[in-house]
Amino acid sequence: MRASRFFISTLKEAPSDAEIISHKLMMRAGMIKRLGSGIYTYMPMGLRVIRKVENIVREEMNRAGAVELLMPVVQPAELWQETGRWDKMGPELMRVKDRHGRDYAIQPTSEEVITDVVRTEIKSYRQLPINFYHIQTKFRDERRPRFGLMRGREFTMKDAYSFDRDVAGMQASYKAMYDAYVRIFDRFGLQFRAVAADNGAIGGSGSHEFHVIADTGEDALVYCPESDYAANIEAAEALAPAGERAAAAQPLAKTPTPGKAKCEHVAELLSLPLSQTVKSIVLAVEKEDADKEIWLLLLRGDHELNEIKASKVAGLANYRFASEGEILEWFGTKPGYLGPIGTKKPVRIVADRTVAMMADFVCGANEEDFHYTGVNWGRDLPEPVVADLRNVVAGDASPDGKGKLAIQRGIEVGHVFQLGTRYSEDMKATYLDETGKPQLIQMGCYGIGVTRILGAAIEQNFDDRGIIWPASIAPFEVVLCPMGYDRSEAVKAETERLYESLLAAGVDVIVDDRGERPGVMFADWELIGVPHRVVIGDRGLKDGKLEYQGRRDAEATPVPVAEMLGFVK
Ligand code: ATP
Ligand code: MG
Ligand code: MG
Ligand code: MG
Repeated sequence: MRASRFFISTLKEAPSDAEIISHKLMMRAGMIKRLGSGIYTYMPMGLRVIRKVENIVREEMNRAGAVELLMPVVQPAELWQETGRWDKMGPELMRVKDRHGRDYAIQPTSEEVITDVVRTEIKSYRQLPINFYHIQTKFRDERRPRFGLMRGREFTMKDAYSFDRDVAGMQASYKAMYDAYVRIFDRFGLQFRAVAADNGAIGGSGSHEFHVIADTGEDALVYCPESDYAANIEAAEALAPAGERAAAAQPLAKTPTPGKAKCEHVAELLSLPLSQTVKSIVLAVEKEDADKEIWLLLLRGDHELNEIKASKVAGLANYRFASEGEILEWFGTKPGYLGPIGTKKPVRIVADRTVAMMADFVCGANEEDFHYTGVNWGRDLPEPVVADLRNVVAGDASPDGKGKLAIQRGIEVGHVFQLGTRYSEDMKATYLDETGKPQLIQMGCYGIGVTRILGAAIEQNFDDRGIIWPASIAPFEVVLCPMGYDRSEAVKAETERLYESLLAAGVDVIVDDRGERPGVMFADWELIGVPHRVVIGDRGLKDGKLEYQGRRDAEATPVPVAEMLGFVK
């Protein structure tokens, strides 16, 4: 590739809505261009990375015996109604009508369609097992699209679906996919961890998530450095005894203590006169994580937790502060017991931070110094308490008894799932066994967030000059930077010679023939994150040398002209 013919568009400053480093750098490097909320054009430089990610995924899926097809983005509602997901998916499922008024879903995933393929195509046990996959555009109307490609509304996913005769077969297919995922993330050159993602007993998990380790990750991972125990925080908490930590809550100061006024919703709430009839109240608290999600805590008086119904919640949402943010999760504040309304589930974390609260009208937030604590409205109340809502914290004993737990943050980049007959039952997907009897097909599903990988890779690999792509997914592996391409015949000739020989050797190389000053060239390619750079200049050529610099190297290394090919390959 020649830079003069390619499209390069770098920026000095990131747009103000870019909050995390990967989003900022992808915008500055001209990899993506925002079209609307959570919707991006993949610009030529970004698309090259996406294609490389896809190719690695495709190679490993094929190697694992999966078969590629391509299912439609727009899918008839009838299929989604068969499984009940048309209703269950809620607003995240994007729906459209055609000119005849028929309903369609824009696929967020494709279990229904693939099960429809299989129930009509698979007749006999001889056709099983089979694993179909595609790499396709997804649409999820996320409540808070953010961080560029990390949580887009339109994004690319690889989704695979395995079909087996029995549970043992499904588990073997699952294992094959799990192993393929390990190879895929190894090839990306990223530091990752697979964690149990359901509440199953240790060892017998039917679902795992693959996370790229990063402090900016939205998920908390619990693991034991001394053993192979690893789970996402929800799965880990389901194993832990409920409510213990909340019960051990510490008393708080009684006087309200304003925080750093980070949370204007709380400030509004404080000046809100409470009507006599209000028994419950919704409080908006800004989640002091990078994602700036608004959390609404349901704060209540003497109700039993389970009495609070969605209808009351809707009424409460009329408060002006409630309309500021969407309702993400509901919590009751009976000390010692917290959980999503209507369930008896044990404590679920708010933001795996300390939450301050009191009985009755209570104010809470998720980070110290960013919230008001000890707020009440002048009633005779029990002692306010502060509780650590995390039911699992670092240092706890690992459930396998082999050591202490550690916690780190991760970005979910892949998810494998044993579905069993969840879809084949609803959709009557059966095969005929050896005796000619129909049997339900056992299913598994396996997703990889192709476009999210770009963000995750950058969160792990950057410096103050820009992105540092792992070589396997870099937009270009090598950039040639000639000093005075248009002025020096010798430079031009050597650049062209090296360019041709690198191309012939199968190296993904770009030559910067734009005639830019060295400073501009270097800054662009460091920002874009090409892992290898070769500088061709008259001075070096006099000694028969070129300069090599790896993206992480502090200095350039002189390399004899004849050895450069071997050096960058
Ligand atoms: P999350 O918890 O981040 O919302 P999910 O659990 O809803 O993800 P899955 O249904 O498991 O996602 O989909 C498989 C993969 O698709 C995820 O592991 C993730 O890598 C990717 N993915 C999901 N939602 C998005 C999104 N909005 N933008 C980009 N990638 C996504
Ligand atoms: Mg999701
Ligand atoms: Mg998830
Ligand atoms: Mg998932």
